[in-house]
Amino acid sequence: MSGRSSSARSSRLPAVKTIETFEFSFQPSIKREQIESLHELNFVDRKENVVLLGPPGVGKTHLAISLAIAAAQRGRRVYYGTLIDLITSLEEAQAAGRLARRLAVLTHPSLLVVDEIGYLPISRTGAVLFFQLMNRRYERASTVLTSNKAFEEWGEVLGDEVMAAALIDRVLHHCHFINIRGNSYRMRAHAELHRTRQEDVDAPEPARRSRKSGARH
Ligand code: ADP
Ligand code: MG
Repeated sequence: MSGRSSSARSSRLPAVKTIETFEFSFQPSIKREQIESLHELNFVDRKENVVLLGPPGVGKTHLAISLAIAAAQRGRRVYYGTLIDLITSLEEAQAAGRLARRLAVLTHPSLLVVDEIGYLPISRTGAVLFFQLMNRRYERASTVLTSNKAFEEWGEVLGDEVMAAALIDRVLHHCHFINIRGNSYRMRAHAELHRTRQEDVDAPEPARRSRKSGARH
């Protein structure tokens, strides 16, 4: 992308995903106006959060990255990490006696993406470090969080119900909530292939033969 600033390059974004390449028709549970209005980035000025919840493959990471790219294009400092990445970096900093510095670095970006809360279990000390980070960012800077787990399950993810409740309380205080209920975009290609095969089976003999000669696979 020609317009990407140096802050976007140092943001550790895993891929380039933008709102332009998001197919809203595939995910009807998402309100297009809500996503478009979030891309105007007033939430970043107001230091509000965004939470994207839903099963795997429904576009949580895609939309989190597209918000980060939109913010970077407007000159905002952004940073992307999975929950595990962020915790690992905090744990390493703590072991090296540099925790305060690392917490300051991760508190600084106007927009932090915390991706994949819930896929992997985290240690209690890791959860405490993450809580400290979110506590620092609370009302100071925006965080976009994604999870495949409902809030009721975050206690299990973080290994502590009380801390999870305190974390959720802070996150939700000023928050835009996007609950995606739909099919995996990743599985779409498989579903299409399956449908084609099913049509082959159902089709009368001549049609089956002629379809087989086509390059469908
Ligand atoms: P999640 O984070 O919810 O597991 P991702 O955002 O990683 O899912 O989406 C999986 C893949 O499918 C990515 O390559 C993403 O760009 C793509 N994708 C998901 N939903 C859509 C959509 N509605 N339109 C276009 N691409 C999508
Ligand atoms: Mg994801």
